Amino acid sequence: MALWITDECINCDVCEPACPNQAISMGPQVYRIDPDRCTECVGHFEQPQCVQLCPVDCIPVHPEHVESREQLWERYLRLQREAAPARAEPGAATPPPAPQPADGATPR
Ligand code: SF4
Ligand code: SF4
Repeated sequence: MALWITDECINCDVCEPACPNQAISMGPQVYRIDPDRCTECVGHFEQPQCVQLCPVDCIPVHPEHVESREQLWERYLRLQREAAPARAEPGAATPPPAPQPADGATPR
């Protein structure tokens, strides 16, 4: 864990959709951060988006779980690897262009 949400959270719903790693979710009382998914926004943004947006400043760095930028970068790479097959399956990701012989669908 790098960041955590304290019980001062007012459940304003601002941070959850802003997280690029889907690390924030509603907990029993207030929102919480999944330590396996939070990279402090490393790989996506210069600053943690949740911290930037939180109106009550209730997302500090957990003093017992300070992580280096290298550790956070490794987590970012893992999340990207995990997401890659899911993104590729629906055919959304386009493969490199390859020579396509006539397939009958000639655009006019
Ligand atoms: S610091 Fe970034 S990755 Fe971590 S919970 Fe906040 S928005 Fe998500
Ligand atoms: S932005 Fe802050 S107050 Fe709003 S839900 Fe997130 S942690 Fe809670």
